[in-house]
Amino acid sequence: NYYVSVELNTLIEEVLVLINSSHRSNNISLILALASQLPPLYLDKELIKQALLNLLINAIQAISDHGKIEISTSLSANQKYQLIRIKDNGEGIKKELMDKIFTPFFTTKISGTGLGLAMVQKIVSSHKGQISIKNNEYSSGVTVEIALPVN
Ligand code: ADP
Ligand code: MG
Repeated sequence: NYYVSVELNTLIEEVLVLINSSHRSNNISLILALASQLPPLYLDKELIKQALLNLLINAIQAISDHGKIEISTSLSANQKYQLIRIKDNGEGIKKELMDKIFTPFFTTKISGTGLGLAMVQKIVSSHKGQISIKNNEYSSGVTVEIALPVN
């Protein structure tokens, strides 16, 4: 793998192609709010796509019925990071499990590997970025935010 100059919105569109059929069959509505003027970032494109794919699959798996996934991109307030947020309306994460979800092999799924978030965290930190996962304040589900440094 190697680093290339690429726009976040392009990455997201490429990842969505990969999951489109699975979210259609699950009846999930997808809402995109992509910032239009974000300059390209220098990234390991395939790794970041893998990370986003893992997050989207987690969102799909957390949703049972009337699923909704919102993906947005933006610039952080201090303009030092580009942000990707993935918000779902799934089952959310129990408070007492919040500090375990990044641990390799931790899973609440019958046939989960528990490696997804550990890998995502590794990819994000190898880009000097940050990841946070929070239960939504006013609705069910979680929001994952990835911040990737500009430059
Ligand atoms: P896996 O998907 O194989 O279980 P992950 O590392 O991707 O492993 O996720 C670890 C755990 O974090 C999941 O088993 C689940 O309990 C929780 N989790 C991750 N993403 C979500 C989400 N979007 N909604 C609810 N729980 C989640
Ligand atoms: Mg997973």
